[in-house]
Amino acid sequence: RKCLSRIQRTKFLNAYITVSEEVALKQAEESEKRYKNGRSLGDLDGIPVAVKDNFSTSGIETTCASNMLKGYIPPFNATVVQKLLDQGALLLGKTNLDEFAMGSGSTDGAFGPVKNPWSFSKQYREQKREQRRPKLHREREGSSGGSAAAVSALTCFAALGSDTGGSTRNPAAHCGLVGFKPSYGLVSRHGLIPLVNSMDVPGILTRCVDDTAIVLGVLAGHDPKDSTTVQDPVKPFTLPSLTDVSKLCIGIPKEYLVPELSSEIRSLWSKAADLFESAGAKVIEVSLPHTSYSIVCYHVLCTSEVASNMARFDGLEYGHRCDVSVSTEAMYAATRREGFNDVVRGRILSGNFFLLKENYENYFIKAQKVRRLIANDFVNVFNSGVDILLTPTTLSEAVPFLEFIKEDNRTRSAQDDIFTQAVNMAGLPAVSVPAALSAQGLPVGLQFIGRAFCDQKLLTVARWFE
Ligand code: GLN
Repeated sequence: RKCLSRIQRTKFLNAYITVSEEVALKQAEESEKRYKNGRSLGDLDGIPVAVKDNFSTSGIETTCASNMLKGYIPPFNATVVQKLLDQGALLLGKTNLDEFAMGSGSTDGAFGPVKNPWSFSKQYREQKREQRRPKLHREREGSSGGSAAAVSALTCFAALGSDTGGSTRNPAAHCGLVGFKPSYGLVSRHGLIPLVNSMDVPGILTRCVDDTAIVLGVLAGHDPKDSTTVQDPVKPFTLPSLTDVSKLCIGIPKEYLVPELSSEIRSLWSKAADLFESAGAKVIEVSLPHTSYSIVCYHVLCTSEVASNMARFDGLEYGHRCDVSVSTEAMYAATRREGFNDVVRGRILSGNFFLLKENYENYFIKAQKVRRLIANDFVNVFNSGVDILLTPTTLSEAVPFLEFIKEDNRTRSAQDDIFTQAVNMAGLPAVSVPAALSAQGLPVGLQFIGRAFCDQKLLTVARWFE
């Protein structure tokens, strides 16, 4: 009840699209009964959680922050949602996002932008007053901004995000949270409405690494409904306590030192490296030579998959249908014009361009090859003895909303994912951990990247750092 009343008190953040109060209270009652009757409890029994509104939830509206899906009530739960519920979690609601998770600011959804709880903190407000800057209420997040704001504003203890190019890690970094992207194939995507099937993974946002490990333990494992999940039995994700890092080799990718990186994050990054070194770890510079191609490569592959994915929204089966009776084609066109925002429509157009017969080889196939080179860069580094890579998560602290929308939003958000997108193309696990507060009083994070399916080791190191 406290969480629900906090949701009401922090409504101005626009973190939730739907609050499932009745469902949560009923689940809480059942959980309490289990506890009182001494029945066995689930790993998340009685724990309030929130879920990004691009995961299907049975009987609860699922919109992807799009007019296209307003009013759509799925008849089933995404596997990850079902797993949370099976372990006794209480579902408080569905969180806000960029339409179909396309974006980096949680500013581009049909329900309006999400505000960063940290922009209401006392320290930040005082700084702004001193600088006599206009009050800028909103700060950039990632597309899972609603989930990040929900956890950061203490309305719930964990939230699911989705991560296709950084959308769990970026908002986590900007909201002072742990944001975890599991290895591709470790956690089921069944019921996660796809952005880029070959890169999407459900992400986890919590206040500390231990909480992430608990949620991951609940979610991980093979799902017959997602053929890309691994068959191997998943070990329990309890994190061994790591006190000695002297056997670790930490890699610092030199290509990540880009000129756009803020000097504050740059110095934080090197301080973190020093911290590992002074604790006895080996810290070495490494090279990921194809890094500079990652953003363009991501965009060719992303838009191509989007063009194919979005074909299902034709006004017939789901959500919105425009009442045009001239012809079926006219109905499709009008429905899609009304249903999708310009970001989604722009990606469908670009994707279809890349997939044209005359462009396919030159763009799509070439991008697939570059993706392989990017993935191989990581394999080579890990095979040379590096255990974990340490990088920034974002280029800077959260940018004021007015600044974020002033510039060409699309170009800007593309740049913002520079440290995160390559990881999705390679399918690796990565986690953003809060590192410090900036001089402005806003949180910034650093990212750890691990070898595929070494999620447990990655989180163990992240916890040491935390
Ligand atoms: N910013 C990237 C995009 O818009 C990634 C989004 C995401 O991870 N969901 O495609």
